[in-house]
Amino acid sequence: MEDFVGPQVRKQSADHHETVRCGDVEIGDGRFTVIAGPCAIESLDQALLTARVVKEAGAKIFRACLFKPRTSPYSFQGMGADGIPILEAVRAETGLLLEAEVLSLAHLELLHDHVDMLRVGARGMRNYELLKEVGRTRKPLILKRSMSATLDEFLSAAEYVLMSGNRNVVLCERGIRTFTTYTRNTLDILAVPALKELTYLPVIVDPSHSAGRASLVGPASKAALAVGADGILIEVHPNPAAALSDGEQSLSPPAFLSLMTELKALAAAMGKEV
Ligand code: PEP
Ligand code: MN
Repeated sequence: MEDFVGPQVRKQSADHHETVRCGDVEIGDGRFTVIAGPCAIESLDQALLTARVVKEAGAKIFRACLFKPRTSPYSFQGMGADGIPILEAVRAETGLLLEAEVLSLAHLELLHDHVDMLRVGARGMRNYELLKEVGRTRKPLILKRSMSATLDEFLSAAEYVLMSGNRNVVLCERGIRTFTTYTRNTLDILAVPALKELTYLPVIVDPSHSAGRASLVGPASKAALAVGADGILIEVHPNPAAALSDGEQSLSPPAFLSLMTELKALAAAMGKEV
């Protein structure tokens, strides 16, 4: 395996950490940033209900996905461009910052002016041409680790974005594929401190796609905070049983509110804020 921590992402000294600004949020500034929302935008009502809940609970950035990379081509693929007015309605009513995945250059062009933060997901991490295009923008980016990427490969993907000019990259550990099947993926929790040894970029965790089960999302989120992650990217749905995607791993509003209470208490014990 190639051993590569590129010059753009490599730490310059032991205490070298940088933040990534998204609107008025500074990811990596010592606070624990919560980015929450449904797996996919499904309707105006679903988006607004979720946005109100996550804002009330203290999330700063809203997961606002219009394009979904689904394993089956027959599964819900997201609302696509039809959902853009919904994003604008969420922004207008709640003032939340918006974050969404791009799977292609066409998505990037479509969403660029409507979201505050872009995401390249686990599948896109190996799409080097997309990474270069995202690198030509100046939008903050969440770059997820592919389900089979070593940390070297993950950091190489980040290097593509930085060397193309965009330094606003937040790394996201979202679980890797292993032999165990009870969880959807295996949360590589030590990837968080390991990445922090190798790079100065902020690191967050996706407890939802790691766990794959709502019952395990809380423990994964608390582990992320305890191990020094700069935040989480978490799925919340007003009615998980009726979700068009990933309902089994989505937190209901009461479950999310109680998790946020626990995270705030844990953060306070660590001398941090959520
Ligand atoms: C997502 O967060 O919406 C997603 C598709 O996750 P991943 O890219 O980690 O599979
Ligand atoms: Mn999902």
